[in-house]
Amino acid sequence: MKWEGDAPLSIHYEDKYYDTTHGPAESQAVFIAPCRLDELWHQGDFISIGETGFGTGLNFLKTWQEWAKARASARLHFVSVEAFPLKKADLTRALSPFTDLKPLADLLLVQWPPATGGFHRLIFDNGRVHLSLCLGDAALMLSRLEARIDAWFLDGFAPARNPAMWSPELYQQIARLSHPDTRLATFTSAGHVKRGLEAVGFSMEKQPGFNGKRERLQGRFEKAESGPDQSSPWYRLPPPSKGPVAVIGNGIAAHMMLAACHDHGLATIQIAAPPAAHAPPLPVALLAPRLDLGSSAWARLSLASMLFAWRSYDRLGVWEHPRGVLQLPNGKKGGKPARDVTRILNWPDEYLRLMSADEASTISGFPCDQDALYWPKAGCINPAVLYDRGAKADRLISAHADHLRPLSGPSGTGQAGWQICDQGGKALCEAATVVIAAGPGSAALLPPSLAAALPISRQNGQISLLPPHPLPKKSLYHEGYLSRSVKTAAGERRLCGHPSAFSDDARKALGLDAGAEAPCEIWTGQRVITPDHAPLAGPLFDGEWFKDAYAGARIDKNRRDLPCARIIRGFICSRGWGREAFKPRLWQHLGSPHKLRVRHPPSKSTKDSIIIRRVS
Ligand code: SAM
Repeated sequence: MKWEGDAPLSIHYEDKYYDTTHGPAESQAVFIAPCRLDELWHQGDFISIGETGFGTGLNFLKTWQEWAKARASARLHFVSVEAFPLKKADLTRALSPFTDLKPLADLLLVQWPPATGGFHRLIFDNGRVHLSLCLGDAALMLSRLEARIDAWFLDGFAPARNPAMWSPELYQQIARLSHPDTRLATFTSAGHVKRGLEAVGFSMEKQPGFNGKRERLQGRFEKAESGPDQSSPWYRLPPPSKGPVAVIGNGIAAHMMLAACHDHGLATIQIAAPPAAHAPPLPVALLAPRLDLGSSAWARLSLASMLFAWRSYDRLGVWEHPRGVLQLPNGKKGGKPARDVTRILNWPDEYLRLMSADEASTISGFPCDQDALYWPKAGCINPAVLYDRGAKADRLISAHADHLRPLSGPSGTGQAGWQICDQGGKALCEAATVVIAAGPGSAALLPPSLAAALPISRQNGQISLLPPHPLPKKSLYHEGYLSRSVKTAAGERRLCGHPSAFSDDARKALGLDAGAEAPCEIWTGQRVITPDHAPLAGPLFDGEWFKDAYAGARIDKNRRDLPCARIIRGFICSRGWGREAFKPRLWQHLGSPHKLRVRHPPSKSTKDSIIIRRVS
C-alpha cells in the first residue's frame, strides 16, 4: 500500500481502502445496516460474518463496536480473507483517524500476525469475539474454509480494477458457506456482480449508495437447499454436536482444550487421574519454534499454530519474563542457514531477528560462532499458571479413565456420543465429543478396532531440571535445548533436553558437563507421536462401520449420498508426557543423566516399566 496524504491506497489496484472522512459511517451504512445485524445479535450461540478483503480492519472494528453496544448474547465470529495484509505500521496509521474505535484497534494491533499465508485465529474479549484472518487469495481461502456464514460483506476494491475478487468461483464458495437466511451486502452495484450472485442463489436488490455514490447491492440467500453435497462423504465433517465435551488428560494440551471450549461457550467435563487436576507435571516448559518453511499445508499449520500459541499464552499470562529464545544453527545436513530463514519468513523484528555471531554471543552470554535466529516472543511458560488461572471444566472427575464405550445414535448417523468408563466398566460420564489428551495412554482408551486405525506411536524421552546458572542469559535451542534459569516452586531451575546435542565446548561454557551439574530432577516418560507430528482431530475411522456404510461406494466410487464417517468428534493426541510414567527425583541420587540409559520394555502399561541401567 501507499499513502496519498492521509489516505491509504492500494499499489496493486490503485484504489482506496475506505472513505477517509466517513469511514466508520460507511461501514455502518453499506454493510452492517443492510445485513440487519441487529436482528442477529441475540440469536444462537455465534453470529458468523464473512468478509472479502480485510484491508485496514475498519469493517471488523465497527462491527465489533456495534456488537458490544448491543450487548449481544451471541458470540461474534468475523471471518475475513486478505491477500495483501498490511504491515503493522501501516495498519496503525490507517486506523489512527478513528478515535472512537481506538480501544478496539489497539487490541487488534497487539495481536496482528506477521504476513504468513494461512488461517490465523485472533481471540478477544475473553473468548467472546473471534477473528479468523484467512491470508491468501479469496476464492482459494474460502474453498478451504468450513463455516456457516450468517452475513457477508463483499469489500474487495472496485470490480473494474480487481475482477479476480468478483469471480464465479468466489460466488460459488460464498453460496457453499451460506444458509437460507444468510444476508449479503456490498458497496458496488456492478451488473455482473448482481447477476453472478443471483446465479448461485442470492436474491439481490439495488439500493441508494452512501454519501453521494449512486447505488449499492444487498441481498439474501434464497436457495432453500444448497443441493447435494459434492464433497467426498468420508471427508465431510459431522454436524456440530450438542452436549458437553469431555477432556481426558491433565497436560498442557488438555488445559488448552479447556480454554478453547470456554472460548466457544461449550460445557466441559475433565477426567483426570489423581493427584489433583491442577497440579502440573512439569514446573516449566520451553516453547521454541519447530520450523517447516515449505509451502505444504503442514508448514502453514505449524507456523500458524506457533503464532496462535504465543497469542494464547499472552492472553493467559503464563509466560516467564523476560522472553526470547536464541536458535543456534542446526548442524544437520539440509538445515537452512539463519539468513535464509529470515529472508523466507520475512517477519517483522518483533517476531524474528537475524543476529550476527557477536550479537548472539552478547545476548546469550554463550560464545556463538555463526549467525543465529532470535525469536523474541518464544520463551518459557509456567504450566502451573495455566492450570490455576486457565479455564476450568464445568465438572472435574478425579478418576482414571480406562476405556470409551460408543453410544449408539439414530440408525445411519454413525454414533451419538461416548461413555467414559473406569477400569471396572462403570460409566464416569457421557459426552457428545471426546478430547483424548492422555499422552501414551491415549490409544488404549479406544475400542481396539478404532485404536488400530490411529497412526500413533510412543517415543521415550527425558528432560532434566538443572540447578541455576548465570548462563545462558537467553534460552537456547537447536537439536537440544537449554532454558535460562527460571523460578519454580522448588527454586531456580534450567530446563534441558538432549544435552548431548551440545558440543563439548558448549557444554563446558554452559555448565552442562557430566558430574559438574547433578540434575535436581529428571523426568523420563513416553511421549506419543504421530508420523508427521501433527495432532489428530476429526471423525475417526471405524473399520467395521465403514465397511457397511460405504458398501455402496465400492460399486460406485462417485456416490455422494453416503453418511459422513461420524464416529468420534474430537481427538487430540497430546505431544506431552504421560504423567504415570514420570519418575521425579528418582535418579537424583544416581548422578548425572548422561551416565544413564533408559529402556522401556515393550509393555502396554508404562507404569513401573522403566528399566534404569547405569552404564558408566
Ligand atoms: N474491508 C476493508 C476495511 O474495512 O478496511 C477494506 C477492504 S479494501 C477496499 C479491499 C481489500 O481486498 C484489500 O485489502 C485487498 O488487498 C484485498 N484483496 C484484493 N484482491 C484480493 C483477493 N483476490 N483475495 C483476497 N484479498 C484481496
